[in-house]
Order: sequence, then C-alpha cells, then structure tokens
Amino acid sequence: MPKQQGYLMFGCRYWLTSTLSMNSPGSFNFPETLLKDIQQVCSINGDELIQAHNIDQPVSIRINPFKPITDFNSMEPVAWCEKSFYLPQRIPFIKDPLFHAGCYYVQEASSMFLETALKQSVDLSKDLIVLDLCAAPGGKSTLINSLLTDNSILISNEVIKTRIGPLAENMSKWGRNNCLVTNNDPKDFTPLETYFDVIVVDAPCSGSGLFRKQEDAIEHWSEENVLHCSQRQQRILEDIIPCLKPGGVLIYSTCSYSSSENEQIGDFILSTGNFTAIKLERPDSGIVETISEKGSYGYRFFPHLVKGEGFFIAAFQKSHEEPEVSHYTKKKLVTKPAKEELNLIAPFLSESVLNMVIKQKENFFLVNETIASELNLLLEHLNIRKKGTLIGELKGKDFIPNHELALSVHLNASVSELDVDEENALVFLKKSDIKARPETPRGFCIVRYKDKALGWIKNIGNRTNNYLPKEWRILTDVS
Ligand code: SAM
Repeated sequence: MPKQQGYLMFGCRYWLTSTLSMNSPGSFNFPETLLKDIQQVCSINGDELIQAHNIDQPVSIRINPFKPITDFNSMEPVAWCEKSFYLPQRIPFIKDPLFHAGCYYVQEASSMFLETALKQSVDLSKDLIVLDLCAAPGGKSTLINSLLTDNSILISNEVIKTRIGPLAENMSKWGRNNCLVTNNDPKDFTPLETYFDVIVVDAPCSGSGLFRKQEDAIEHWSEENVLHCSQRQQRILEDIIPCLKPGGVLIYSTCSYSSSENEQIGDFILSTGNFTAIKLERPDSGIVETISEKGSYGYRFFPHLVKGEGFFIAAFQKSHEEPEVSHYTKKKLVTKPAKEELNLIAPFLSESVLNMVIKQKENFFLVNETIASELNLLLEHLNIRKKGTLIGELKGKDFIPNHELALSVHLNASVSELDVDEENALVFLKKSDIKARPETPRGFCIVRYKDKALGWIKNIGNRTNNYLPKEWRILTDVS
C-alpha cells in the first residue's frame, strides 16, 4: 500500500481515476485544498465527488421504535440503520401529524451509521449511562435513545442555551422517561470522572460534509476555520475523556471532510494512551474505511459513494486498567408523591410506572430507577433542563397533565380520547380549538390521529380548550 503524508491508503475501495476539474462551468466550487486533503487519507474520484454536489440530496427518516408506524415500509431502507427509509422526495413534514406525534425523525442517512457503531461496540442489552455531549437538535440522541434499555440513562447535553428548546422538544416527542437534557459546557462534566459507559461526541465542525445540504456552508468554509474547529474538538475531548469509565466506549463523529477534524483527532484520542481503536463491519454500500497514522479506524461517507451526505465516525474503547472513581452526594433523596397525589395521577399513567413518579415543588416527573438514584449527584453538577417526563402539576385538587405526558409511551391507554382526522389534527396542532363530539367525556382528553397521541384538550361541554404549548404550535400555513 502506498503511504502519503503519514496516512496509509488502506481500506479505501475507490481510487483516483482522473485529474480534478475544479471550478469548471456548471460544476460545484469545491475547495481545492480540501479535496487534496481528502485524497491524502483516502483515494476517491474527485470529479465524481464534485459532481455529486450538483445532484439533489436524498431525504431520509428514522422510525421511532416505541411509536411504530408502517407508512414508510414500502420505501428503500437505509442499509446501516434499522427502521430507516429514503423517501422518493421531500414531503412537507410540518403538515404530517405523525411527525408532530414523534413517530419518526427526519435525519440525514449517513449519520445513522451511529447505530451500527453502537451495536458493534457496546453491549446494549445492559443498563448504561450514556452521554451525548453535543446533542442539539437531537438527531443522534433520538437514535441512541431508541437503542437503550428502559433503565438506562441518556444525558443529552447541549452547550448553547438557545438550542436546548428544540433538543428538549425532540426528546419529549420520542416519549421515553430515561433521558435528561442538560445545558453544560464539556468542562462542567469534570466532577463526573469515570462516570459514563458511553460518550458520543458529535463535534461542532467546519461542516464541509454538508456543502450539498446547506448551500451557504461553502461560503463560510476556510482553512483557518478548519484549524479552529480541530483545536476546539481537541479541547472538548480533553475535557470529556476523563468522564468515560474504564472499558467504556467513545464515539467521535463530524460532518467534515478535513483530516485534521477526523483522522488526526483519532490520533489525538489514541495519543492519550488510554484507548484502543474499534474496527467496524460495514454493509457493502460505499462506506470508506481509513486508518490513521497511529492506527485509528475511521469511517467516511461521501455523497458520490453512498446515498447520504459527507460524514465521519470512529469508535474507541478506553482501557480497563484505569481506576474507577466512586461518586457520593450528600443531598437528600428524591421526593415521592403522597398517596392522595398519586391517586390523582394514577388515571393518566400506565400502572407499571406509577412507582417511578417523583415530585419537585408542584411538579411531578416520571423517571426510571437509575435516574431516581443518580439524580441528586447529577443535579449537584449539571444544569438539568429536562428530567425524564414532566407529567404534570397539581393546581388545588386538580391534576393538570403536561404535554410531555401526552407524548409519553407510558401514557395510560385508557385515558379519555378524541380521535381526529388529518384536517382536525392540523387545527389542533395550530393551537386552534377543535370540536368535541357529544359522547366525548368532560375533562382532559387526548387528541389522537391514526392512534397516535398529539396532545391534550379539556372538554368543558360547549367548547374545548387546547392545551398544546404555545411554542410547539405550527406557525406556517398548512392548509
Ligand atoms: N448531534 C446533533 C444531532 O445529531 O442532531 C448535532 C450536533 S452539531 C454537529 C454540534 C453541536 O455542538 C451543536 O449543537 C453546537 O451547538 C454544539 N457545540 C458548539 N460548540 C461547542 C463546544 N465548545 N462544546 C460542546 N458543544 C459545542
């Protein structure tokens, strides 16, 4: 195998077949230095890569396994992720009530390879504590969450405050009670040394892999920014690596083509002396394996070789030899609701999870046992913005169910409901009032479309009140 600039030309299935025709009329203005950089780690056909940027990107979705639907089953599946499909063309998802119900997530196909990486490197049948460090808006977090046991914890973290809202909304739509959303800088995790079984770092990057998806991305691309991103990625990893358990798995990914954000970061991880690179099996679908100077395996996605955008992912296992740190907290344990309070909540929740309700001030949350036992430690160190499922609050003697409960997979199946057609589902999702039927019971009712819960109304006889949170409503014209 020939060796160039310290990188083995190994594992690449596609070799340079022609000289590069950069910036020719009608072709995509791909940065020349970037193409050279790619070809130093992996020989691909530069012309074909550039040409792929003139073709429309594929549209793909991933089904929520906890809210299964069959509407997309006849479509082409994504080879490396279960229950994921390519759509023949983009549909106006905003007009689909099932999208609002959290039945699927619209996700770029290449990045779904995270599922393969996790399945091959982690024993997902165990209860795990997983950190998705750079999580907003929640594409990877909803995917990770689909793979975890009921009693695992997923901490979906995002450092930028304004990105927490969409992240929390997407995790609420996914409907499980095993997730926390936090708003922290990577260095805030320092006290949680050797705490996590798995850490996923989907790092902020220069974004060249999304040139086709986001047309303006190319204008913001520069070598200076690539360097800046690479340095930031190293700082993020330096901060978070100590938080991984001995034997734990680190998954690193970017949507950049630059080797300094990919293979060189793999080398940086190995240089900490604590990691082994994990080699992954791939379906025969054009995914390119690279091996870095220090021997880390990387998996690259190019839009002319796979049906997806540019993406990079690598997996590492931390040595078992490092000592594990024990964590103690002096704070009091979580509060359980009183019996009378639980009696008010019981009609809204599946019986099997009633013992998992906790109380904070006037609010009630549904968490799992692992969250209940870890919550005080986590509250001590992290800025928790969502814990499990916020199921509701007590106002006087009334229990007011929260929207998160409407979307929860633990909603009591026998709660009163109003089945609606597509037109009325969209009226509800615009937060306009919908009509109940004469036989609809008074009080809180779930609005259901095709058997999937959309939210609460309160039927007060002559009219209904719409309890959809204002920030969730559809603002665009969907008629
Ligand atoms: N994982 C997300 C998904 O699949 O939907 C996409 C994450 S995006 C590639 C990277 C995220 O890192 C952004 O949400 C960004 O706000 C966040 N970020 C930016 N600077 C950061 C920093 N210094 N440390 C940690 N995260 C950062």
